[in-house]
Amino acid sequence: METGSYNPFQTAQSQFDKVASLLDLDEGIRDLLRQPMREYQFTIPVHMDDGKVKVFKGFRVQHNDARGPAKGGIRFHPMETIDTVRALAMWMTWKCSVVDIPLGGGKGGVVCDPHHLSMREQEQICRGWVRQIAKNLGPVTDVPAPDVMTNGQHMLWMLDEYETIHSGRYPGFITGKPVGMGGSLGRTEATGFGVVYVLREALKEMGLSPTQVTASVQGFGNVARYAVQLFLQLGGTVVAIACWDQADKTACTYRKKGGIDLDDLRAISDKFGGIDKKQARERGYEVLPGSAWLEQDVDILLPAALENQINRENVKTISQKVKVIVEGANGPTTPDADEIIKQRGIYVLPDFLANAGGVTCSYFEQVQSNANYFWEKDKVLSKLDAKMTAAFAAVSELARKQKLTMRDAAYVIAVDRVAQAVRQRGWA
Ligand code: GLU
Repeated sequence: METGSYNPFQTAQSQFDKVASLLDLDEGIRDLLRQPMREYQFTIPVHMDDGKVKVFKGFRVQHNDARGPAKGGIRFHPMETIDTVRALAMWMTWKCSVVDIPLGGGKGGVVCDPHHLSMREQEQICRGWVRQIAKNLGPVTDVPAPDVMTNGQHMLWMLDEYETIHSGRYPGFITGKPVGMGGSLGRTEATGFGVVYVLREALKEMGLSPTQVTASVQGFGNVARYAVQLFLQLGGTVVAIACWDQADKTACTYRKKGGIDLDDLRAISDKFGGIDKKQARERGYEVLPGSAWLEQDVDILLPAALENQINRENVKTISQKVKVIVEGANGPTTPDADEIIKQRGIYVLPDFLANAGGVTCSYFEQVQSNANYFWEKDKVLSKLDAKMTAAFAAVSELARKQKLTMRDAAYVIAVDRVAQAVRQRGWA
């Protein structure tokens, strides 16, 4: 989403340019990596339930596939733009690289609002999206997955359309499928759990126990819910959660003294992550403005919604108590806000490291799907934990050694691996 003067693709490019200089990359490699290799933009005509035809705009961007097939989710959002998809595709390349899985970066989207679409209309969008680019996707080319406002059901419709077109069964074409239909156990939890695995490691390095710390969260979708679940299991306290209120078209922060009760909030929320305000009040929650999540006197901030949420306008409202920002969302912090956060000495676990658990588990799902042999949940989650912990350790060590922020260190590792692949293939 582009917010005010912030364009996520410009953010992604400026982050890349900084690291390209640190790595002293050749001009040719810089040129190749600072833009997507391939982009598709198309229309998706849908016969709506009222009998009219509505045309939706679809995107797929393949940023880089030097390390393996492009990989990345498909987002349904009314504010989706090609530049958002470009940025997200680029971040996917770095994300797969930093956790060292053999995949490249891609992203897709459709400009639509599932709040106002029936299941049949959503199915038609999914099938139409696949029909438009079925030749340019596939298990060895580009493997989609869920993202904001898409889920396992959407993935299954897309798989079915792809398999109909290509006359065969290709379960490795897409990830995030329902369990029992080619999905991996643990995939739903993976992004949120991954966020907390790296947070746990960071706290360990800082000499803090999860039982001593408090957090404030933005978002109540898939990532936030599972991150909160594991953080609470480790003994942490979540003081506040902010989420979008579809009825009022604004965000609200829900706060409770002593900490929120996850089951309580889950019971009064919808599948898009919206919380019922009236019921929340009845259950003892204060309902504050959407911006309040950022202003809480907590140790940890966890943005797990959309891009540009911590920016030059609101960064100054972050409490002096905050020690860690763990980015569950993609691109939640703008570069100008990031600079202020750095000056204040707040420790940032950057998005493409912190939220890499989803795609790491997607990789496990692809492996399982291609082998047609599925693992126990414990095995999936322990492999996920090992991957995330190893990636954290490598980034943290480099940050310490070269006196870099965690974001810059993660970028150095990720971009360097992709640059090496590009060189070894003889592309630049
Ligand atoms: N959409 C998720 C992300 O942004 C997952 C992508 C995937 O599993 O391919 O990381």
